[in-house]
Amino acid sequence: MKNIKNYQLEELKQELSNLGEKPYRAEQIFHWIYTEKVKAFDDMTNLSLELREKLKQNYTICNFQILQKQESSDGTKKYLFDVLDGNAIETVLMQYHHGKTICVSSQIGCKMGCKFCASTGIAFIRNLTAGEIVEEILAVEQDIGEPVSNIVFMGIGEPFDNYDNVMKAIRIINHPKGLNIGARHISVSTSGIVPQIYQFANEGLPCTLSISLHATTDEKRSSMMPVNNLYSISELMQACKDYIAKTNKRISFEYALAKDNNDNLEDAKQLVKLLNGMLCHVNLIPINKIENGKYVKSTNENIIHFRDYLNDHGIVATIRRELGSDIDAACGQLRRKNLKQ
Ligand code: SAH
Repeated sequence: MKNIKNYQLEELKQELSNLGEKPYRAEQIFHWIYTEKVKAFDDMTNLSLELREKLKQNYTICNFQILQKQESSDGTKKYLFDVLDGNAIETVLMQYHHGKTICVSSQIGCKMGCKFCASTGIAFIRNLTAGEIVEEILAVEQDIGEPVSNIVFMGIGEPFDNYDNVMKAIRIINHPKGLNIGARHISVSTSGIVPQIYQFANEGLPCTLSISLHATTDEKRSSMMPVNNLYSISELMQACKDYIAKTNKRISFEYALAKDNNDNLEDAKQLVKLLNGMLCHVNLIPINKIENGKYVKSTNENIIHFRDYLNDHGIVATIRRELGSDIDAACGQLRRKNLKQ
């Protein structure tokens, strides 16, 4: 059966007219799901009983079950959701000064193989559908009893390896009659899949694009991120420059600092050279330790030096606050689970 949360409003109008219904019914259904946040067709009380029956026969309302919920001492919450096919994924809720942010997963597992990331350690299973991504948000909002202000595609998976479903989910999240979260409050992070960066520049979606850079030479970046063997740093930078030229939007570069790997002054110098003159911002992430991972977090002193060097040389850089690391909810610590194992 088809998940009703998989449709953008215009698509749902088409679905309803295929069922012989008036298209405005789609707006009513959208309102029930995304504003009233109901979880059953029977709660859509301004629809006739007959239409509710028809909907039940043709669609499901995918409602995730919370299998586990952990809360960090800093208020971060990590949810393990049953995605209803024997798999489970993690979604994180973070509390910042400016509001609440949900970090969504885009795939069950990940193919990218980044050496420092736990999401990639176990096999890739499948893409999440747009409706499942949207449901991650609805399920968290339902649990906390209030809407959130920001969404980041920084959970399990590579969003640009599930491009169409992620774009569709963003449009549902962003739509005034959907979750109504402004595009400027939505960030998409990629490990650097170059063709999709060009494609994203043409979407007309003013979301924030984050690029996981982490190193400034092909040799080092390839040793950390196999995707660099497919798309080199110069190809990646070219795509970023094209994106900035087309959208006039600032790119956020993520750089996870690992001791004696990519955190010395020479790396900072190279990074300044690479990003010189670009409309961008650097997000420095103290690398989080993962099981069997060889990378160790840089010292606080090195992290601060690194940031100061960038700032002193014209590159705006901030250090990302570490949230949720005590419950393995921080960057790179999320994992999918198989419920049948
Ligand atoms: N696949 C996408 C989305 C993941 S976003 C991407 O690669 O961008 C998660 C961010 O956390 C990415 O920048 C990723 O490189 C970073 N990350 C992964 N493992 C990490 C770790 N152990 N410590 C700190 N950051 C990590």
